Amino acid sequence: MKKIKGIPVSEGVALGISTVIEKDKLTIDRKSILPEEIESELERFEYDANFVIHEIEHLIENYTFNQEHKDILITQKMILQDPEFHKSVTQQITNNLSSLEHAISNYFTEITKIFSNMDNEFFAQRVSDYEDVAYRLLSRTLKQGEHILSELNEKSILIMKNITPSFVTKVFEKHVRGLVTEKGSRNSHSSIIARSMGLPMIAGVREIIENIPHGRKIIIDGNNGEIIIDPTNTVQKKFEAIFEKEQENRHKLDALIDVKSITADGKVVKLMSNIEIPDELNQVVKFHSEGIGLFRTEFLFIDKNKLPTEEEQYQIYKEIAEKISPEPLVIRTIDVGGDKLSSILNLGREENPNLGCRGIRISFENIQIFKQQFRAILRAYTKEYIRIMFPMISDVKEIVRAKKIIAQCMDQLTSKGIEFGNKLEIGAMIEIPSAVFTSDAIARACDFLSIGTNDLVQYTLAVDRDNESVSTYYKPSHPSVIRSIKMTVENAHKYGKRVAVCGEMASEIKYVKLLLGLGVDELSVSPGRLLKVKNEILKCDFQQAEKLAELALQLDSSEEISNLLI
Ligand code: PEP
Ligand code: MG
Repeated sequence: MKKIKGIPVSEGVALGISTVIEKDKLTIDRKSILPEEIESELERFEYDANFVIHEIEHLIENYTFNQEHKDILITQKMILQDPEFHKSVTQQITNNLSSLEHAISNYFTEITKIFSNMDNEFFAQRVSDYEDVAYRLLSRTLKQGEHILSELNEKSILIMKNITPSFVTKVFEKHVRGLVTEKGSRNSHSSIIARSMGLPMIAGVREIIENIPHGRKIIIDGNNGEIIIDPTNTVQKKFEAIFEKEQENRHKLDALIDVKSITADGKVVKLMSNIEIPDELNQVVKFHSEGIGLFRTEFLFIDKNKLPTEEEQYQIYKEIAEKISPEPLVIRTIDVGGDKLSSILNLGREENPNLGCRGIRISFENIQIFKQQFRAILRAYTKEYIRIMFPMISDVKEIVRAKKIIAQCMDQLTSKGIEFGNKLEIGAMIEIPSAVFTSDAIARACDFLSIGTNDLVQYTLAVDRDNESVSTYYKPSHPSVIRSIKMTVENAHKYGKRVAVCGEMASEIKYVKLLLGLGVDELSVSPGRLLKVKNEILKCDFQQAEKLAELALQLDSSEEISNLLI
C-alpha cells in the first residue's frame, strides 16, 4: 500500500482502477504500413491536410482577427501547402512504407531541428509555427480524444498530467469514478466542472506519471486530497463505508429540492446555478434551481474544429432558456484565455495569459464573433428570462462600448424584421480590483452585478488560480477580498442594483453565511453543490450573518477571518 497527497479539488471518495493516460504527448503507435495500404494512406493525407487547411481558411475569411493573428494563420496555411512538405510525406509513405503520422512527425521534427539550430529570432519564431501546425494536423490524423476515451470504463480513476474542462465532461460521460491530475488547483475550470458533476478529483500531484502506476486498485479521497494505491483490505473496507455514507447524505439532501431558499429569519435568497456546458442542464433541472446565474459560453469555442455559427448558438441558447423558463438565464459572453484555451480563435502565445487578451478584450478584438454571439442571444431572447453579462470588465467604458455594439445588433435584427424582447438586462462581472473600485460607475450603467470571486481572488492577491505551487497564497477569506465584496455591494445597492456572487466562494459552505451578511442578494453555484448551499441558507439567521460580516470586516488577516467562519 502506498499513500500520496494532492490538493482536494472536488469532494467525495472513489474506489476504482488507475487508468494512466499521457494526453499531452501525441503517441504514434503505428510507424509503418503494408504496401497495399499506400493508396489509402495517401488519400488520408490528402483528406486530413485539406481538412485542416479549410479550417484555417474559414477562420481567415470569415472573421476579422487582428493582423498578428491573421499572419499566424496565413503562415500555418502556407506550411501545410508547401510542396516540399507534400513531397516529403508522400515519398516517405510510398518509398519507406511509413505511416502517415510517422511521416508527418519526421518531416516536422527535421525542419524544427534545422530552425532551432539557427541562432536567429525570426527562425526561432518559425519553430513554434511549425510545432503548432504539426500538433494541429497530428491531433486530427490520430483522432486523439477518441483514442483516450476508448480506454476508460465505469471502474476507471483517470490519472493525467493535465485535463481540459471539456475533457472532464467527456470522461464523465464514460462514467469514470474520479480524476487525479498533476496540474491545476481548486479554482481551475476543470476542477469547477468536476465539482459540478459530483466527480471526486485531486489535483497538484507531483510527478504523477512516475508516482501512480497504471491498472492498480486505487482510492481517492477528494475531501482531503489523499490517494491510496494498492490499499489493504482494512483500508478498503473503511473507504467503502465512507462512500456508502456519502451516498446516503446525498439522498437526504434530495428532500430539499422543492424547499424555498430562505434564511431561518425569512430573508429570501435567490439561489441559481452555474453551467459550463449544456450537459449540466440536467442537474440544474433535477435540483429545481431558480435559474442559471452564469452560463459560461466558452465551451462553444474550446476544443472545437470550427467556430460556432450564429444559428448553432441561437439553438443552444433558446433550448436552455426554454428548459429553465420562467427562471432567468444569464448568458456570459465568451471568456476564453487564461486556462481556457481556444485553438480556433488562435490567440497566439502570451507570456502572461491571465493578464493578456481574455474576457471582454477578446470580444472587442473580434467584433464579428462578438456581434454574432449578441445576435444569437437576442434572437433567443423573446421573453424576459435571458440576461447578458460581460466578463473581465475593468471599467464602465467597456460596458458603454459593449452596449453600443448590442444596439447595433438590435438595429440589424429590426431591419430584418426579426423579433426580440425589449427589456434585456445587462450585467457586469466584478472580478478585477479596478472594477471593484469603480463599481459605483459600473452599477449605474448596468442592471445587475455579479462578483466572480475566482478571478477576483487571483487578481487581488496576485496568485495564479491554476498554479498548484502557489495555491496556499490563494485565500478567498483575505480581508482585501471581503472588503472588495462589501464595497461592490454598497455601490450597487446605492443605485438600486442587485449583486450576485457566481464565483466558487458561493459554492463553499463556509462562506455562505458571510456572503449573505455582506449583503449579497443572489448566489449562483455549481449545480452539484446547490442543495448543500440551500441547506446552509435554511440554517442561517440573517441578522447573525450581518453581525458576522461586521466582525470579519474589522479583521486584518485571512487566518482570523477563517477562524471566525468555523
Ligand atoms: C470567476 O472568475 O469567479 C468566474 C465566475 O468566472 P470564471 O471562473 O469563468 O473565470
Ligand atoms: Mg472569471
